[in-house]
Amino acid sequence: MNINNFYISFLQKFIKVREKTIHVEAFVRDDLWNNLKKLIGKGYVWFVVTPANYDYCKIYFNLRMTKDEFTKVLIERINFLKERNEEIQLHLHLCNTIAFFDKKLQDEKFIEAMNFMNAQGIYPKKFAPGWNKYNDYTLSLAKKYGFKFFYDFNKNPLKRPIIKNGVFVIYVHKIWHDYDFI
Ligand SMILES: [Zn+2]
Repeated sequence: MNINNFYISFLQKFIKVREKTIHVEAFVRDDLWNNLKKLIGKGYVWFVVTPANYDYCKIYFNLRMTKDEFTKVLIERINFLKERNEEIQLHLHLCNTIAFFDKKLQDEKFIEAMNFMNAQGIYPKKFAPGWNKYNDYTLSLAKKYGFKFFYDFNKNPLKRPIIKNGVFVIYVHKIWHDYDFI
């Protein structure tokens, strides 16, 4: 068994079984945040949005706040999780229609998201694309920005991870969303 196969088996057995992947995107809402705090210490990996997804979040979650206000609350809540030793990773919505993906969109979103994360002292290694929509260029950018693991959704819980464009693509069959806890 070569080292990659060994590593894939490891990922399959340990990470996929033990981790609970939650996409955290509506948590700037106070009503949701109060419920969400109950999940602290329960083994969730918090894939959080950044100001790069302000427009998406504003529409989807009926937010009545400016981008500056949104950013301020994000910082406050991400730090709250961080101070409690929760694992924080990156969730980034790019575009909901793969045919409309282009490099400019992805370059801009990655830069804004990573600048924000790094400014909080967070250097994420795991990436979860919004709507599970991505292309090969997304994988290349993930590698460029230092991500090791790329989380995709797949209905088959037994689907093994693969290596693509230099990152491990892990297939998760159950994903939680923060807004499920309202
Ligand atoms: Zn999402």
